[in-house]
Amino acid sequence: MNDAAKGLIVKVSGPVVVGRNIPNARLNDIVMVGNDKVPGEIIRIDGSDCSIQVFEDTGGVSLGEPVSNTHAPLSVTLGPGLLGMMYDGIQRPLEMLRAMSGDFIQRGLSVHPLDSEKRWEFTAKLEAGDKIRPGAVLGEVEEKQGRTHRILAPPDCEGVIGTINSGLFAIDEVIGTLNSGRELKLAHRWPVKRARPFSTKLDPKKPFITGQRVLDSLFPICLGGSAILPGGFGCGKTVVEHMLARYSNADIIVYVGCGERGNEMTDVLTEFPRLEDPNNGRPLMERTVLIANTSNMPVAAREASIYCGVTIAEYYRDMGYDVAVLVDSSSRWAEAMREISSRLEEMPGEEGYPTYLATRLAGLYERSGRVTCAGDPERKGSVTIIGAVSPAGGDFSEPVTQNSQRVAGALWALDPTLAYRRHFPSLNWNRSYSLYTVQLENWFRESISPEWQELVASMQMILHKDGELQEIIQLVGPDGLEDSQRITLEAGRAVRQDFLQQNAFSGIDASCSLNKQRLIMKAITLFYKQSLNAVEQRVPVDKILGIPQREELSRLKSIPENEIEQACAAFQSGLARELTALAA
Ligand code: ADP
Ligand code: MG
Repeated sequence: MNDAAKGLIVKVSGPVVVGRNIPNARLNDIVMVGNDKVPGEIIRIDGSDCSIQVFEDTGGVSLGEPVSNTHAPLSVTLGPGLLGMMYDGIQRPLEMLRAMSGDFIQRGLSVHPLDSEKRWEFTAKLEAGDKIRPGAVLGEVEEKQGRTHRILAPPDCEGVIGTINSGLFAIDEVIGTLNSGRELKLAHRWPVKRARPFSTKLDPKKPFITGQRVLDSLFPICLGGSAILPGGFGCGKTVVEHMLARYSNADIIVYVGCGERGNEMTDVLTEFPRLEDPNNGRPLMERTVLIANTSNMPVAAREASIYCGVTIAEYYRDMGYDVAVLVDSSSRWAEAMREISSRLEEMPGEEGYPTYLATRLAGLYERSGRVTCAGDPERKGSVTIIGAVSPAGGDFSEPVTQNSQRVAGALWALDPTLAYRRHFPSLNWNRSYSLYTVQLENWFRESISPEWQELVASMQMILHKDGELQEIIQLVGPDGLEDSQRITLEAGRAVRQDFLQQNAFSGIDASCSLNKQRLIMKAITLFYKQSLNAVEQRVPVDKILGIPQREELSRLKSIPENEIEQACAAFQSGLARELTALAA
C-alpha cells in the first residue's frame, strides 16, 4: 500500500475519532489526526474503520480531514536528561509546551522529549570486539551531580561492538556501532505498553523504607512491592505520596499526578521544584521525573500517562536503581478509561467502568518487582508502585479499590474518622494489611534489631486491647474500669498519639528512622509492662499516671535523631526510678 495514503475522519465523539481506510492500521498504532496532525492511538478496528483515542482536544477536528499512520505504538524516549523533567501524559515537556503556546497547550505540537542540544560527557565501559547482549551497559554519563546514568544497549540490540567512543555527545549523535552496522546512541525508544525485559525476577527481600512509622512498623512493603492507598477526599493521600517522594529509600522517583481538584496539579508543579532532597540537601527534582495531567488535558493523555511513568521507572530499574512510581490518583486514570470506553459504546461493566478494568489494573501492578537486569555487568533494580485511590464517598467496595486491592501487595486504608480527628497519617490499623511482613522479618531482625518484630507485636497487642476497651467504654462508660485496664488505655493512647501519629509538616517528625521507631516502640512497651507491674504491687493507678515519664513519652517523636538514644536511655532509667519509688 502507498505509504503517503491517508485515511479520512468519518466520526468525532469527544476524545474518540473514527478514521476510515487508514493504511496498514494495527491496534495501538499512533496516528496523526486531522489537518493539525494531533496525535492519537488506534484502540479498535472494525473492518475499514478504526476508533482512535486522541491525546489532544478534538474541538477543531472535522469530518473528512485526513488521518496518517506513523506505524509505531506509543513510545517514550529513554536517555540522559529525564531526571528533573515534567511531562504531560505522552512525554511532552510541560515547560516547552508552555513556552511555545502559553498556558493552554496548543494542538499538534510535537516536541522532543529530551534536550537534543545538550552534550553529555560519555565514558565508554566497553571496547571494540566486546560482545553485547540486550541491556548491556555501554558506558556512563553523569546525569545530575553525583547521579550516574548508565547507557544501556536497547532491548532489541545485540552483537559485537565495532567502534565505541568516549567523549561529548548529544542524544541523537552516534557513540559507536556494532559490527552489523547498527548505530549506538545515548537514547533509545520503547513502547510504553510493553514491560521492559529483564533477566530474572527476584524475591523482594529489602523494605521500601518510608520514614512513616505506621507504614514501616505495622504495614511494611518491599522494594519491588506494591501498595494501594485508598481514602476519601481530605484523608491525606496526597500528603502520604509526597512524604514517600521525599523520604523513602528509592533512588529515583516517578510521580504521576492525575489531579483531583482543578488546581491540585498546579500546586504539585510549583511545590516539587522547591523541595529539598533530605539525603544530600540538593533539589528533590534531581532524582524525580514528574508526569502531570492537569484538568484541562484530554482524558486519553491521562490514560497514557501511567504507562509512560512505569516505562521510565523500568528504564532506571534496568540501570540498577530502586525506583518508586507514585500515582495520585489512579481513580482518575480509571475514569479516563471509563470515558473512552463509553465513547466506544462498549458494554459497560460495574459502575460503568469497562469490563477490562481489572485486567488493566493487574497489568499496571504487575510491572512492579525486583529483578536482575538484562545484560552485563550484573545489576539488581526494582520498581515499587504506590497507587492512591479515591473512591467516591470513601466507599471501598467500588470497582477501582476492589480490583486494585486484589493485585497489590498491601492495603494502606485511610480512614475519614481518623482524618477528622486530625490523626495523621490516617491509616486504619484494623483494616490495613501487608502481605510482605513475613518476607521482611529477617531483614528487620538482622539489619535493625533482633527485638524489632517483638516490639511491633507489642504495638499490635496494645492497639488490640485498647480497641476492645474502647468498645466496653462505649457501652458502660469509663467508671467500672479496673486499674490495669486504665494502664492499657493509657498505653493505647501512647501508641496512637506518640507513635502512629506523625506530623508531615514538622521538621523533625516528618520522617523517622527505623532506629528511632524501634526506640519509641521500646519506650512505650516498657512503660506498659512496668506500669502493669506496679499496679500488681498495689501502687495506686493515679500515681502511676502522674509520673513525668508519661509526658516524656509524648515528646520522644520530636527529639532529633542524634539525641534520641540518650533521651530514651534517660526515659528508661527515670521510669524504673519513679515506679520503684512509688512501690516502696
Ligand atoms: P487527599 O489527597 O486524600 O484529598 P490531602 O493529602 O490533600 O488529602 O490531605 C488533606 C489535609 O490533611 C492536608 O492539607 C493536611 O492539612 C492534612 N494532613 C494530611 N496528612 C497529614 C500529615 N501526615 N500531617 C499533618 N497533616 C496532614
Ligand atoms: Mg489528593
